Amino acid sequence: MDVPVLSRLNTRIRTTLLTRELGIDALKGTLETYLPRHEIYDVVRAYNFSFAAHEGQTRKTGEAYIFHPLAAARILAEMRLDYTTLMAVLLHDVVEDCDGIELEDIGHEFGPEVATIVDGVSKLNRASDQTQNEARAKSIRKLLLAMTQDLRVILVKLADRLHNMRTLGAMPDKKRRRIAQETLDIYAPIAQRLGIYKFQRELEDLGLANLYPKRFEVLTKSVASISGKRKNMLREVERKLSEKLKEEGISATVVGRQKNIFSIYRKMKEKNLKLLQVMDLYGFRIIVDRVDDCYRALGIAHHTYRPISEEFDDFIANAKMNGYQSLHTTLIGPAGVKIEVQIRTRDMHHVAEAGIAAHWQYKIGATSASKTPQIQAREWLSNVMAMEEGAANTEDFIEHVKVDLYPDEVYVFTPKGQIHRLPRGATPIDFAYSVHTELGNRCVAARVDHNLVPVSEKLKNGQQVEIITSSHSYPNATWLNFVRSAKARASIRNYLKNLQDDEAKRLGRRLLEKSLREIGVSPRRLRGSRVNDALAELNEPSMEELYRNVGLGNRMAPLAARHFLPTTRKSVAATAMPLEVEGTEGLVVEYGRCCHPVPGDAIRGLVDAGRGIVIHRNRCKRKAGKDEWVEVTWAPDVSGDFLVELRLKGEDRRGLLAQVAKEIAESGSNIESVRSITGEGRVADLRFSVLVRDKAHLTRLIRRTRRLEVVEDLTRH
Ligand code: MN
Repeated sequence: MDVPVLSRLNTRIRTTLLTRELGIDALKGTLETYLPRHEIYDVVRAYNFSFAAHEGQTRKTGEAYIFHPLAAARILAEMRLDYTTLMAVLLHDVVEDCDGIELEDIGHEFGPEVATIVDGVSKLNRASDQTQNEARAKSIRKLLLAMTQDLRVILVKLADRLHNMRTLGAMPDKKRRRIAQETLDIYAPIAQRLGIYKFQRELEDLGLANLYPKRFEVLTKSVASISGKRKNMLREVERKLSEKLKEEGISATVVGRQKNIFSIYRKMKEKNLKLLQVMDLYGFRIIVDRVDDCYRALGIAHHTYRPISEEFDDFIANAKMNGYQSLHTTLIGPAGVKIEVQIRTRDMHHVAEAGIAAHWQYKIGATSASKTPQIQAREWLSNVMAMEEGAANTEDFIEHVKVDLYPDEVYVFTPKGQIHRLPRGATPIDFAYSVHTELGNRCVAARVDHNLVPVSEKLKNGQQVEIITSSHSYPNATWLNFVRSAKARASIRNYLKNLQDDEAKRLGRRLLEKSLREIGVSPRRLRGSRVNDALAELNEPSMEELYRNVGLGNRMAPLAARHFLPTTRKSVAATAMPLEVEGTEGLVVEYGRCCHPVPGDAIRGLVDAGRGIVIHRNRCKRKAGKDEWVEVTWAPDVSGDFLVELRLKGEDRRGLLAQVAKEIAESGSNIESVRSITGEGRVADLRFSVLVRDKAHLTRLIRRTRRLEVVEDLTRH
């Protein structure tokens, strides 16, 4: 025998031995814990058939091909699935990948059910006139339609995909990314829709790890390091909860759990958060025997740690679409760490992990709890069928399925029919930014399905959105209150920041020029080496940058101005010319929230790094160093509305506020907000804010309101 043949033979023997040891024997071991012997016999028969069919084939990882169907079978065996599903998963690649084996052979050997499932997961051959995308879309459609005949098709497909994802490392980069993307787009959402959270979580993490390996690695490490630091705290919570439940006579299992990396990643991305801001990284699960124990356990949890009341969900009374049931609550644990707690019965837990798979699970399928996901899945699939009928072509159909799989997203169209995916609750502003930043920046209104709507209107699936722009328009800070997408939020913030930069430069220039004049330097005559020398001394690259830093309060104008003095002159001529506040400076001039100055008040300014100038009343108690204050004065034509705080004492009776509000309205102002400070006895003590034009306006308003009989005292605060 020559050497190559011998080595091939050796390899085969080694593979066979390995396969027996790690493979079928291990699978059989699991099957023996729940299947009757004659069913195990059929599963082993399917294995032998598959082994023979795949003989000589290897995977990209280098191992014998049979390892793949076998590994997929072990995934499903761990979920205790029925023997039909197990036979099908062992045979799932035989028709597609092995010459000479037809579907009829499978049907003949293992029965029509197994053949149907194998057919459902087998890809269609790519026709010569098809693109790769078309061919892929057609295969996914085939799979979805096969599910309507037998839902076990998807269990086999998901196990197949899960094992492929686990061994994706061997694939070339481009292919790996494509498969990972498809997993995140289609298969993980299907697992979620069918309630198979066990698969969903792993598919998501593997998808992320293969699509963005760096992000996944960084995130995994950071989460591990945070959880390491909080280990003792978590143990403490677990111990305390278990103890209290036991004291109250509830038999319960308390287990700590960490969220999967993908869900943390998604939360950070959607809400634009940093990792440390995603506070509920950990959770606990309390598993009890009976439904009413769930509610009792909830009471005990709320008694042990303070709950965040708005973060409570009763998915027992209102089960999720996929049949999921649990109570969800968030507690404030030791050191203020948020802890999410899920409370459910054993049955509910089982459904939560296995979803529709529970229906075919051995000896579990009969419980009533597991019927819900089954019914829900059927409903979803009949939806899919309807979409199939309505779709223009296969790729269109797959797009529709994706839309349907993401209940947290809306899909809308441009006037040209381009599809845009946005988070649920998104508005025309979000849409505009998703098309183009400039479109968002110039957006003034929108037409949705040809009707004019406000830019804050929430969009719905399938709507056509047209953005109306104006070249004079620019983003408004109030948009931040209703936009949903991270892109819109970031673009608006960025625009406002640049706007602030411009304003800062203008203000900085005024401040610096004023300081220069005060020391007898004419800003207009500044040029050449004097400027360059001064900038070098100040370590600023340009005048613009110097203006900006002065405007933002990072530099003091009087100090910076001195660098522009000719070296021969040391004396400083001080002709104080206060800076005028015009009321229209916008973001770089702020009014002190401590004293609320209005035009007419004696004022001074405080340069605040990063914020610009903050205007305070002279009588304000705000403390600062002598040279931090800048002299300011109101411009003669100052304009705008200025907020003031008033304090009112009056008879505590109904109608007090109404009478006061009426009087203030008649003085040409409005109450912006009211706070009640508990009064003594029958005296009401209220603080409220109003907007006034200037001091004269304010004086009139106070005088008028004081005349009311119910008002005992009204003063500016
Ligand atoms: Mn496969």
